[in-house]
Amino acid sequence: MAKRAAAPVPTKTAGETRRIMAKLARQHPNADTELDYSNAYELLVATILSAQCTDERVNQVTPVLFKRYPNAAALAKATTGELEPQIQSTGFFRAKSRSLVGMANACVEQHRGEVPKTMHELVQLPGVGRKTANVVLGHALGVPGLPVDRHVLRVSNRIGIARSEDPEVVEQQLCAAMPPKDWTKTSDTLILHGRRICKPRPLCDQCAVRGDCDYYRTVMGAVPHMRKKAGLKASTTANKKHAKS
Ligand code: SF4
Repeated sequence: MAKRAAAPVPTKTAGETRRIMAKLARQHPNADTELDYSNAYELLVATILSAQCTDERVNQVTPVLFKRYPNAAALAKATTGELEPQIQSTGFFRAKSRSLVGMANACVEQHRGEVPKTMHELVQLPGVGRKTANVVLGHALGVPGLPVDRHVLRVSNRIGIARSEDPEVVEQQLCAAMPPKDWTKTSDTLILHGRRICKPRPLCDQCAVRGDCDYYRTVMGAVPHMRKKAGLKASTTANKKHAKS
């Protein structure tokens, strides 16, 4: 029988991951979702709208939407044709309209108009995947959840606190290293770090975990043109290490 490849493991231990996350939390002390909401229903709507769209744009659209459809029962009565022009600026508005109306109907028919409080039930709602479910669980329902988006994927793999391109595997790896009470904060902090510092073209000179980062040591430290692209000076620590080796 052919041997299956071993599952990848992060290069950092759980203890190292916690220390790294503590440093990042100090660099981004107010990390939180940037979507505006006042209850689980509103956050669910805003998160569905945020796919392939900035939080800022979503926050421009939702005040009117929440006023017109203040709960799942009201939204369930809307048609996709009515919703489309109201959410057009968030992109993918036809699919999002279908998801919103479908989600609201499912909440009304199966959960007495409430947003369900478990991952299992949330991911059965139209338009709700694991990431969206974790956002709502962690921020609005008081249930630990660690949403993995493209920023969390990129940043955690670069640092070495996760090792996979599969969001669900990364979620498991980060959840295994961090205490449940910190899961949502971990995601918020990595997202903010990915937006502000560890962008696709990273600003390593401004990063609090440069000394811990696999990508910085192996890629940025070893490849001069990558250093230049990232605006790093010739005298960075990684550069010095590289010069010694
Ligand atoms: S050192 Fe650079 S690559 Fe590593 S986490 Fe910081 S910004 Fe990202």
